[in-house]
Formats: sequence, structure tokens, C-alpha cells
Amino acid sequence: MQTVILLGAPGAGKGTIAELLVEQVGFTHVSTGDMLRDAIKKETPMGLEASAYMQRGDLVPDTVVAGIVADRLKEGNESSKFLLDGFPRTLEQADLLAKSLEELGESVSAVFLLELPVDIIVDRLTGRRICKNCGTGFHIRNIPPKVEGVCDKCRGPLYQRPDDTEATIRNRLEVFEKQTSALINYYDQKNLLIRIDSAGDRNATADTIVAKLSSTTG
Ligand code: AMP
Repeated sequence: MQTVILLGAPGAGKGTIAELLVEQVGFTHVSTGDMLRDAIKKETPMGLEASAYMQRGDLVPDTVVAGIVADRLKEGNESSKFLLDGFPRTLEQADLLAKSLEELGESVSAVFLLELPVDIIVDRLTGRRICKNCGTGFHIRNIPPKVEGVCDKCRGPLYQRPDDTEATIRNRLEVFEKQTSALINYYDQKNLLIRIDSAGDRNATADTIVAKLSSTTG
């Protein structure tokens, strides 16, 4: 089993890069944000619990997210390749992940940290639009759809995430600084961290990751 983590501030491009890596490497994409949004849409008990945290841009409790990821990993086998996007976000979650993998006789293969300046992050998030049907990401200037408000892939309607407003974005960036940045040292000390400049073209960023993956995990 291969378990690769994509780490980076909100807006660093984790979702977009993950889509490219799924196409190129055949990863199974595990996005806790997507899973939580899905639970909210379906009004499951977990969705109802998560909704208020997400609207504020705060983190959902560790045990909730770690539980859904653990369930997903258990469905894998020796040849599975998991790409974790948006998880872990705290040291507690990193520990819970390590334990879940250990129970399966596995460990984290590599951690890619997507780095870019804050002003680019804010621009990316405020301009981000997502397809309601298939989840494909667009940007009103950087990755515009062919027809405004309509998904290129499935013709579904595009929407703006309710937590992509300026105030919530500011809180999400603060939360990242306070809680998630501790993970950078955690994985660096384990020699698993690979820093990637994510300010440029997303295809180039994905290509860099694919090249590093083949040299680090074989
Ligand atoms: P994302 O789509 O990754 O930007 O996540 C959107 C929101 O979902 C976050 O602001 C959190 O409220 C929640 N969330 C996603 N992943 C996690 C996680 N690993 N731990 C806690 N909350 C999370």
C-alpha cells in the first residue's frame, strides 16, 4: 500500500493537484473536506455535527475525521495507492493516522508540502468555483470554464464554497498557521517531507510531484 499526503494551506492547490495525480498515477483520492461536504449534503449525523465547524472555517474534531479516513484505508489492499488531501491537519490526527496504518502493517510513504505566498492563496480561494455535480474545480481567472458558471466536464452548475469568503478564508489561514504547520516539523523529522513550489502552473507542479514520487517510493 502506498499512502501519500498532500499538505498545504487552504488554496495551495491540494484539490487541483490531487485531480491530476489521480489521472497520472492512479491514486485513490481521499479528501476529508469532500467527504464532510458529502455528509452535510446527505444530512448524516456526522454531517450535522461537522457543518457548524466548517461554516466558521474551524477544524472538525480529530476523532471524527480520523475515523472516516481509517474506514477508507481499511478498504485498501497491498496494491492500493491512497492520496490524502486535507488530512491530517493536526498532530493528533497524524498520530491517529500512524496508528491506523500500523494496524494494517503500513506507514506513510511521502508527504508533499505545497508552498506559495499568501496573496496568491487569497486570490485563488476567492476566485474558486466548483461543479455541484462532479466536484471539478475551476477559477474565474486562472482556470475559467468554457461557459461561465457551467462545468466543462459534465455541464453541471458551478458554485462558490460558502467557506470561500474573505472572513472565513482569513480564519482558515490562521487555523492552518496555528494547528497544521506543526505537522511540517513532525514529518520533516521523520524525513518524509518534500517541499514543492506551488505558485506556478498546476501541471508543472503535478509533474514535479510525479518525478519525486518515482525517485522516493520506487
Ligand atoms: P478543505 O476542503 O480541505 O479545505 O476542508 C474544508 C473544511 O472541512 C475545513 O475548513 C474544516 O472545517 C473541515 N476539514 C476538512 N478536513 C479536515 C481535517 N482533516 N480535520 C478537521 N477538519 C477538517
